[in-house]
Amino acid sequence: MFKKILIANRGEIAVRIIRACKDMGIISAAVYSEADKHSLHTILADEVYSIGESQASSSYLNKEKIINLAKEIKARAIHPGYGFFSENSYFIKAVEDEGIVFIGPSSKSVALMGKKTDARRLMMKNKVPVVPGTTEPVNNTDEGIHFSKQIGFPVLLKASAGGGGKGMRKITSAKEFGSAFEATKREALKAFGNDEVYIEKYIESPRHIEVQVLADKYGNYVHVYERECSIQRRHQKIIEEAPSVFVDDKTRKKITTAAISAAKACGYYNAGTIEFLMDKNKNFYFLEMNTRLQVEHPVTELITGIDLVKEQILIAAGNKLSFSQKDIKVRGHAIESRIYAEDPLNDFLPSTGEIIEYIKPAGPGVRIDDGFMTGSKISLYYDPLISKLICYSSDRNSVIERMLRALAEYHIAGPVTNIPFLLEIFKHKDFIKNNFDINFVERKFLNKKSQNPERISTEKIPAIFSAILKKQSTLSEKILSDGNNSDSNKWMDLLNE
Ligand code: ADP
Repeated sequence: MFKKILIANRGEIAVRIIRACKDMGIISAAVYSEADKHSLHTILADEVYSIGESQASSSYLNKEKIINLAKEIKARAIHPGYGFFSENSYFIKAVEDEGIVFIGPSSKSVALMGKKTDARRLMMKNKVPVVPGTTEPVNNTDEGIHFSKQIGFPVLLKASAGGGGKGMRKITSAKEFGSAFEATKREALKAFGNDEVYIEKYIESPRHIEVQVLADKYGNYVHVYERECSIQRRHQKIIEEAPSVFVDDKTRKKITTAAISAAKACGYYNAGTIEFLMDKNKNFYFLEMNTRLQVEHPVTELITGIDLVKEQILIAAGNKLSFSQKDIKVRGHAIESRIYAEDPLNDFLPSTGEIIEYIKPAGPGVRIDDGFMTGSKISLYYDPLISKLICYSSDRNSVIERMLRALAEYHIAGPVTNIPFLLEIFKHKDFIKNNFDINFVERKFLNKKSQNPERISTEKIPAIFSAILKKQSTLSEKILSDGNNSDSNKWMDLLNE
């Protein structure tokens, strides 16, 4: 087993990995940028190293700095978490070349699944159903229109190198194609340094269902069941649950078998996730493979009792999986909410600044994965995720009740959060009745008729919304009385509106 692991990440996922290291008696070495000086991961890790400026390119995305540090401090393995270098096959190759163990799949597997078009071709070859569409980049508007007519509008134009819900455009007719094509290419080039785009059939009202897999380096594969991640805003997940109540046993058997085939097709080892879209008739289509740990991994941990981060470390260290498929049992239900520092009343803009007061929920069936504490700062440099709240119980309805209770227990003063918005979703009758798809949030909560389509319609803002904000204000009024914190002032102004 490794004596020391370097954690090349920040925030809640760095903390999660530190905890796994501690549980396994491994020395955890954390890195931090200037902006993260007062973060929880720098306090919890056994060793901490400053790696430079706040911009990710100078710190968390500085390949030389991270690899040199690992060598210098004699860390035999690097855990990348998610984001940053986790799916960068060049980084992984450089780590491998130095004789350091990357806690994740091989650079080869990551490269095979890296580009969506390559992954689609590989899946088709291995009989995993993919969303109908092209497997090669589209070269020009005429070609794109020709192909779209063949599969039928609406289509989705997608960046081959895309991720994070960016670089995607729905096109409903041939006349929209030209401008959408140019705009998507521009966006793809800016976000991913690659302007290749391809076409997928736009699947109407599907569910996002994904399957967690684990594989060791000896060809043993298991799935750890599915997660339902249909509650999204701008194609980004905000609420995830396991198991999916939409998936019946027969479909579960089929989709988990397809997921294992996908993992085998790229010679995968470690933890990975195969994402699918599932239509109302329960036909499913491969979307992409995430060759890393997912943000939403805790819901799977809670229903199966498997510590996925520990398994990642064991696999990377060369251990065989210590269980087989029949040993993995699902018990109960779990839901995760992503608590973001963003303002639902102002186009969900990130809300930065110091966390002046931070009280988090606890009690039966409540797990919090976070990387902040009172005094930490939410900066504009990184994702504004403050905390993940994961609730567990015997059945879905009681998890929802628990989630409502736990969300209301948060007191976060300083940045504005999306908690009131999450509460609204959990109280919505269609969410409770499991009657939703990937467009649920946009359809039910975001007022499309207003000038700004991302604005919540005011009649949807219920009493509880302001009640929660008021509660937060009472707690922090005294603290804010000096009026020095401009972000907090903005927040207080909002309360007074
Ligand atoms: P990213 O890599 O940016 O996360 P994905 O391909 O995983 O992109 O898709 C993200 C989300 O976008 C999906 O969960 C779904 O909501 C939506 N989406 C993607 N492809 C399609 C499609 N062909 N039809 C309808 N919705 C889609």
